[in-house]
Amino acid sequence: MGTPRLDTCVPMPIEQEELEALVDKAKDWALMHGAGMRPMDAYDADGMRFAPFVLLPSTFPKSEFDRAVQLQVVINELFHKVAHCHEFLLESLRSTLEVDPFTAKLFNLYETIRREGTAQKLSLGLIRSDLMLESGCPLLGKCSAYCCWKQVEVNTIASGFGWLGPISSGIHRYVLSEMGYQEKLKHLPDNNALQGLCSGMLKAWEIYGQPKAVILFVVEPVTYNICDQRFHEFEIRRLNPSVKVVRKTLTQLAEQARLEKDKRLIVGKDEVAVVYYRSGYKPDDYPSEIEWDARLLIEKSRAIKCPTIQYHLAGTKKVQQALALPGVLEKFLPDASKAGHVQKIFTGLYSLDMDELGEKAVKMALSEPEKFVLKPQREGGGNNVYGKDITDVLGKIQNSKERSAYILMDRIIPPVQLNYMLRPGRGNAMYEPVDVVSELGIYGVVIGDESTIIENKQVGHMLRTKLASANEGGVAAGWGALDSPYLF
Ligand code: ADP
Ligand code: MG
Ligand code: MG
Repeated sequence: MGTPRLDTCVPMPIEQEELEALVDKAKDWALMHGAGMRPMDAYDADGMRFAPFVLLPSTFPKSEFDRAVQLQVVINELFHKVAHCHEFLLESLRSTLEVDPFTAKLFNLYETIRREGTAQKLSLGLIRSDLMLESGCPLLGKCSAYCCWKQVEVNTIASGFGWLGPISSGIHRYVLSEMGYQEKLKHLPDNNALQGLCSGMLKAWEIYGQPKAVILFVVEPVTYNICDQRFHEFEIRRLNPSVKVVRKTLTQLAEQARLEKDKRLIVGKDEVAVVYYRSGYKPDDYPSEIEWDARLLIEKSRAIKCPTIQYHLAGTKKVQQALALPGVLEKFLPDASKAGHVQKIFTGLYSLDMDELGEKAVKMALSEPEKFVLKPQREGGGNNVYGKDITDVLGKIQNSKERSAYILMDRIIPPVQLNYMLRPGRGNAMYEPVDVVSELGIYGVVIGDESTIIENKQVGHMLRTKLASANEGGVAAGWGALDSPYLF
């Protein structure tokens, strides 16, 4: 039995002459409407290329899309509560902290804040729950609740594509219209992710309550995914022109940021109301101790953080794996039906700790590596291990504590479909239909403190698509392509 296949939303293949004209127009439309990126191979601070995208929207079952959208507020609630449960974070991460210095550094920072305190109890979560369809499940709406999509991960820091998600639907509206398929446009769901995420930041800014205070974006020294970030900035200023956005790296903040006696965070001449991290989740983001000092300074301040350090830790793969253990969800979600719905979206997640369960998981992975993904506690794509490589990587550390740096996950096999993948510099290869698979991300906004949630919303989505043969599909990292769902 081959992998299940979904029909493309228009008859395939597209006739060559029409296709060439469409590709030409679509690339220009994308670039001229802000679906761009700075090229990684030939960085040009003054230039831009279109971001890779697929020519047509990918078909996606409406029942599953709707259920994912509906469940987002429950996932928001869950991760907010997990972030505020010290005991659970410590227990879940304990073994990993011994062998993963980066996660240990983050945890250390968290413990310092617990000891020394922070002047801001509220946190702002802009989270993205990523999922894939599992082909083992019956599609086409015949399945019972939540049976078809499975969670890949939940991002609690730097959840990107709030702009590139919605604009991808714009590209597809344009392409389908040019092809004369106006009647198909109703299958493309509305997507107000950018407005939703920026409204979340502005809500936090209002709560902070200082009209002159700014929103600080913590960024990398070089931002390839600049459109996505700038459109967040432009949207904030569109929604409230009196709010200024400032962009700084952690290294710059180490020099320029300070705390007033009352713990107000000052950068240059500006007081900061909200700190939005688009960096700070990779070891490279901390080239020296001063960047860690800057993160600690921010964490202690009165500014509202997106995310706080505890939110950051709640998004680790190890915590996701611990949440899937029997009886855990019920602790955080006392409403049994909510816990039940979330449990169904988990695929097999296994600890690799030095105990009986870990031993069993190691054996399982080494005997059938193609059925699993081996994941370290890292973000941003390109860190996971697949197939035969699992044998090498896990084989070397199978009898060592080092294996607790990773978790093991069942590999999800999504249904494939045909599309055209447009990528700068791909030339005529763009005219060949290819088999692709997609990953849907749903955005959530949640604001609250340890005891109360004052805002909890689902605010939109993004779809990323990669070659069916590729392991990972990061767009910024260069493997994936922007996409939007065509609901059927
Ligand atoms: P990151 O935080 O680096 O994005 P992810 O857990 O999202 O880590 O993994 C990166 C990519 O690897 C995903 O976008 C997806 O393409 C692929 N992937 C992750 N987990 C699975 C899985 N269980 N089955 C199939 N593919 C997966
Ligand atoms: Mg991630
Ligand atoms: Mg991911």
